[in-house]
Amino acid sequence: MIPFNIPLITGKESDYLSKVLQNGKFCGDGNFSKKCDEWLKNNARAKKALLTTSCKHALEMSAFLCDIDKGDEVIMPSFTFVSTANAFLLRGAKIIFVDIRPDTMNIDVTKIEDAITNRTKASVPVHYAGVGCEMDAIMDLARKYNLFVVEDAAQGLIADYKGRALGSIGHAGCYSFHETKNYQCGEGGAILVNDEGFIERAEIIREKGTDRNKFLRGEVDKYTWVDVGSSYLPAELNAAFLYAQLEKAEEVTIRRLDIWHRYFRNLKELETEGYLELTKIPAHCKHNAHIFYIKLKDLDERQKMIDYLKGNGIQTVFHYVPLHSSRMGKLFCEFRGEDVYTTKDSERLLRLPLFFSLSFTDVDFVSNKIRGFFGCQG
Ligand SMILES: *Cc1c(COP(=O)(O)O)cnc(C)c1O
Repeated sequence: MIPFNIPLITGKESDYLSKVLQNGKFCGDGNFSKKCDEWLKNNARAKKALLTTSCKHALEMSAFLCDIDKGDEVIMPSFTFVSTANAFLLRGAKIIFVDIRPDTMNIDVTKIEDAITNRTKASVPVHYAGVGCEMDAIMDLARKYNLFVVEDAAQGLIADYKGRALGSIGHAGCYSFHETKNYQCGEGGAILVNDEGFIERAEIIREKGTDRNKFLRGEVDKYTWVDVGSSYLPAELNAAFLYAQLEKAEEVTIRRLDIWHRYFRNLKELETEGYLELTKIPAHCKHNAHIFYIKLKDLDERQKMIDYLKGNGIQTVFHYVPLHSSRMGKLFCEFRGEDVYTTKDSERLLRLPLFFSLSFTDVDFVSNKIRGFFGCQG
């Protein structure tokens, strides 16, 4: 059986977890948390990075920072994970979906301007599969209409757009370290705070609405309740586990890219012959091989492919059910403009097994079975 994913383990995790046990300090913002923050900040050349308990929580922090209020509109793609929308809905926003472009499955920036009204407060580009959205156009619109931009870079660590790290371009950027991501600690995330004006408040919101960080730095002589907030900082054990992964992240990415390119070469001919479609990576984007997907003809052919591969011991998965077609989406969100690709292409997309320890032999096996499905030689 070739599983769809095996969560990454680099080998240093137990060593670092033992160090925390020896140190006897378990709450958030300890030594390993600081190391992770530093690493993330340097990696993205960002102003500030803070670990969070999840990407969802980093998105919630961003919604606080943007002062999202009841009735504000927030623009995003419908082809994304629930949390992208839920973080802003929690603050009372109305979620406005626009269509995606079929080559990258990212938000179609040419559809954003028509969806902007005088209630629009922010846009949330999602860097699907670690491939950058058209950030220059998104930031231009944000300047023109005075909007905040929060990057959902859950899948985007160690990937860039025109040489800039995904997550470091908007006012804030959010990463995920869920076990399904390239680098993980079970459940975890981080926020990059790129807007200078957000930094002080980000620390406060993350620390239950208190100025505890200032107190720890000796900037105030006691800490008190100064703002709204929540408890968004992960425990030190999670940070220690994560640091073992971040240290190896470059190496892990190189291996994942090798696997990705091998799939691509193996399946390219099927695309040329018109059997399926593969991802297009824009020339100015460097991705991180988070996802390798193929696009079949339609929903029916995808199900047949899933069953066929399963019969050959290969596990594949698909996502996302477009948010505007969900119960919550129908109640609280609106799709502006025409849904040309969101529904159609989400029904055609199938993700192939891709994880650090996947062997080239298995990549070739999966590729040959896909060729076999179409009656082509292995
Ligand atoms: C994984 C993911 C999230 C949520 O990440 P968590 O850390 O589980 O909160 C949000 N958005 C996208 C696009 C994701 O892939």
